[in-house]
Amino acid sequence: TPVVVAVDGPSGSGKSSVCRRVASRRGLAYLDTGAMYRAATWWCLEQGVDLDDGDAVAEAVRSMPLVVGVDPAGPTFHVDGTDVGEAIRGSAISTVVSRVATNLRARAELGDRQRHLIAVERDGGFSGGRGVVAEGRDITTVIAPDADVRLLLTASEEVRLARRATELHGQAGAAAVEATRDQVVRRDREDSTVVDFLTAADGVVTVDSSTLDLEETVEAVLAVVDE
Ligand code: C5P
Repeated sequence: TPVVVAVDGPSGSGKSSVCRRVASRRGLAYLDTGAMYRAATWWCLEQGVDLDDGDAVAEAVRSMPLVVGVDPAGPTFHVDGTDVGEAIRGSAISTVVSRVATNLRARAELGDRQRHLIAVERDGGFSGGRGVVAEGRDITTVIAPDADVRLLLTASEEVRLARRATELHGQAGAAAVEATRDQVVRRDREDSTVVDFLTAADGVVTVDSSTLDLEETVEAVLAVVDE
């Protein structure tokens, strides 16, 4: 039977690395919804949209020609033919993505596309109808509340900061952690004004990766998926 696995969690929780591996191990498609918000932000900036103009942001997102690739071995994101996979990871996007993600009409538009992508993978698509691991902030609650498996991936703030610092600066010394604090803590605070990804909703299983390495976290998630 096809499986939809929904995973939410804050930034630095290791969601993306864990979900990609879980999807690969079970032959499922992988949908990174955060990358869709990042691509939408890239498109708004590319179009010269003022991020303070809610109507303009909503309209730009509605007309964004986004193509999403859901192969866990190499997820891809193209906007109007441009491969934005690398550009959307930069700090120019990370520091402002919450401005797009807190626009409720932009959320409704991207949410519709995410539900569609999940339905395609459940019924056929890349995975041949085996299913999909979809990760983000509101997948277990808003986008796929009826998913077969629903998980909240958490880690202590300290651990999340250290992980992001290592990702961005190659190390987790005090200065690198401070330089990362804004991106992690402020972004989570802004994001959590529109979605609650810090407490597990009813029926959602919490996996705390604070004391687990990547492979151990993958195993912990697989154990829940295989239940
Ligand atoms: O997961 P990632 O850090 O790449 O997500 C980037 C941003 O996209 C988040 O900071 C949040 O603003 C937004 N997002 C969201 N809802 C989701 C996934 C991501 O609002 N389901």
